[in-house]
Amino acid sequence: MIVAEQKSLEEIKTLVGEAEKVLVVGCGTCVTVCFAGGAREAAITATSLRMTSKLNGNEKSVTDVTVQRQCEWEYLDQIDEQVKDADIVLSLGCGIGVQAIAEHFPDAWVVPGLNTSFLGLPTEQGVWAERCAACGDCILGLTGGICPIARCSKSLLNGPCGGSEAGHCEIDPDIDCAWQLIYDRLSSKDKLHVLLDLQPPKNWRNSRDGGPRKIVREDLRLAAEDSE
Ligand code: SF4
Ligand code: SF4
Repeated sequence: MIVAEQKSLEEIKTLVGEAEKVLVVGCGTCVTVCFAGGAREAAITATSLRMTSKLNGNEKSVTDVTVQRQCEWEYLDQIDEQVKDADIVLSLGCGIGVQAIAEHFPDAWVVPGLNTSFLGLPTEQGVWAERCAACGDCILGLTGGICPIARCSKSLLNGPCGGSEAGHCEIDPDIDCAWQLIYDRLSSKDKLHVLLDLQPPKNWRNSRDGGPRKIVREDLRLAAEDSE
């Protein structure tokens, strides 16, 4: 899932500025699960903005709505009227949701209420950890299902770096050394020989280094055309 954190109320207030009619838009998917931007957080943020603006003597009209997913047009269509009626939209979606609203409603002014952080999973109550950097060429099949790109601080392909101590990373002793985890996993599966195959430098063109990425599935596009 996409993991995000809410911006401080001070920053949100600055982003909203002098706008009088504010629409706070929550998202019902990833950011709901990580308690950053779901219906509950949208309602709390709207209430906070309403109260602080009233205390400051410039009371704003702040409403909130939450859509199932901000990253799909069909859900954004459901809030068409509310967006058009607002001076500013505060999106509590991830960075994709913010951009989807801006793209779908060109006349709207949209600002982010969250800091989108990483692709990860909840490892325990209240803790989320990064697991994937969306590198575009997954090598988990070589590393026992543990990602050295996202989980090794140096993104080493032929680790470890030699700095790990007692299984912890030298960059941050609070995290496990990814290569220790990989070694342990491969060892437990009797597959340590996999590590003897040196991995060549990674082709980062499949990652962000090749510019913005796009996936085009012609079969799906043709199927959509056929059904029209
Ligand atoms: S190898 Fe790439 S795609 Fe696979 S989990 Fe790691 S960052 Fe994600
Ligand atoms: S200690 Fe382990 S996780 Fe940290 S940088 Fe070195 S190999 Fe990567």
